[in-house]
Amino acid sequence: MNTWLDLDYVQIFQTLPDTLYSPVTPQALSNPFMVGYSPACAQLIGLDPNTLNQDTTLKLLSGQSLLSNWQPIAMKYTGHQFGYYNPDLGDGRGVLLTQVKHDDTIWDLHLKGAGLTPYSRQGDGRAVLRSSIREFLCSEALAALNVPTSRALCVVGTDTPVYREQVETGATVMRISESHIRFGHFEYCSFTQQTDLLKTLCDHTIKHHFSDLLHKTNENIYAEFFRAVLTRTAKLMAQWQSIGFAHGVMNTDNMSIIGDTFDFGPFAFLDDYDPSFICNHSDHQGRYAFNQQPNIANWNLAVLAQALLPLVDKESLVTILDTYPAIFEQYFLENMARKLGLTGDALHHKNIIEQTLHMMKNCKLDFSYFFRKLADIHQTKTHQHLRDMCLDINAFDDWFDQYQHALAHNNQALNSNHDTARKARMNQVNPKYILRNYLAQNAIKAAQNGDNSQVQQLFEVLQNPFDEQPEFEEYAQLPPEWGKTLEISCSS
Ligand code: AMP
Ligand code: MG
Repeated sequence: MNTWLDLDYVQIFQTLPDTLYSPVTPQALSNPFMVGYSPACAQLIGLDPNTLNQDTTLKLLSGQSLLSNWQPIAMKYTGHQFGYYNPDLGDGRGVLLTQVKHDDTIWDLHLKGAGLTPYSRQGDGRAVLRSSIREFLCSEALAALNVPTSRALCVVGTDTPVYREQVETGATVMRISESHIRFGHFEYCSFTQQTDLLKTLCDHTIKHHFSDLLHKTNENIYAEFFRAVLTRTAKLMAQWQSIGFAHGVMNTDNMSIIGDTFDFGPFAFLDDYDPSFICNHSDHQGRYAFNQQPNIANWNLAVLAQALLPLVDKESLVTILDTYPAIFEQYFLENMARKLGLTGDALHHKNIIEQTLHMMKNCKLDFSYFFRKLADIHQTKTHQHLRDMCLDINAFDDWFDQYQHALAHNNQALNSNHDTARKARMNQVNPKYILRNYLAQNAIKAAQNGDNSQVQQLFEVLQNPFDEQPEFEEYAQLPPEWGKTLEISCSS
């Protein structure tokens, strides 16, 4: 295991034309301290996790020092925000410090909150402690839930004040991802009519992130590239919808081209199941409501398709775009069938999946809690417990008949010797522990009062979301009423 000095640094993004970035130097923050760190993420890049406790890490991740073989840059991109094109975007407060090669994978090391860049516009280039903690916890929690996501190595707090609605603690988060290239990068190249640049960026992205396409010599490779992005995006949406994750700001500049969950703002994991839940309080129209996410991804893919028009004929793009709903539905039904413990062709389970979600909505059942408990519904006391939680008992009873029928039809009737195996399967996909807003909020409050232990503790519980972890039962409880109505500030 390596220290920072021993890692294999490469600067792959800088092989691209410099219209895509500007060299920058991070602006140092003062008196840095460690707030939370992910040993698992350190291992991804080959860094010895013990290094994270050392002073060198604090210096590097607060912008106080740089390694000589790093060449930090801010990336230029554009994007559609809330449906409107914004030509002025770019890394306004994040810096791609360097890239690291480990075990044949190249990882971007991106420091968020590192100071002003040419793309900062009116912003201060900084990030506050609360949003940095949220990004850290959520990235690592999603990874443990097997959802593709950018990762977070650690959160560093500082005593540099940052001004939002009030004075707050400035912080940085070290984001790690195989790519920071967004849909918005392609929009930038295309909408500024830099077709050569667009082609070069596509070639770069294919070479590093979609290399299996290089063997497809008969096809238009850029059309196949679009198809691959669409497939990854559909798969990601199906995962968000089946885990109950609301992103909140699905602007095209926050869409990762490699299909990661990317750029964490006012996200939330669902508490009570309300399909039209809006986690972003400045989203008055509900453009990014929970149940809109798959459609918005489709809309964002249409924007990407438009950006690729100089390289691919329109008919091919439209034909590929039209495949999105069916691809999404297939992945979604597969995930949901697994959550219900059903096996075989997921399409056969469409009815019971829809009936379950309908009942959950009418009964206002907690999304994750319900699915986790469902694995034990063959036990009278669990059945009774879930029934008691329902606002509409009749709806629950009707649904339970249908669910029993679906299981029997699937050759695994309730109260048979299939119960144990079904429960084991369901517990692998229905997490017991999720990053509820109120849990994050409690950890943030403690950190703002100088106690960082709760951030690390919560991080550790969320590392094993599918395990029972009886010593952490309190983290698996239903949220308190105040926790369901928390308004997460959109300033970050
Ligand atoms: P976000 O809503 O975090 O995805 O940010 C949208 C755009 O605003 C991106 O180009 C960010 O780099 C930029 N931005 C957000 N916050 C700041 C800030 N405090 N200073 C400078 N730029 C920012
Ligand atoms: Mg963003």
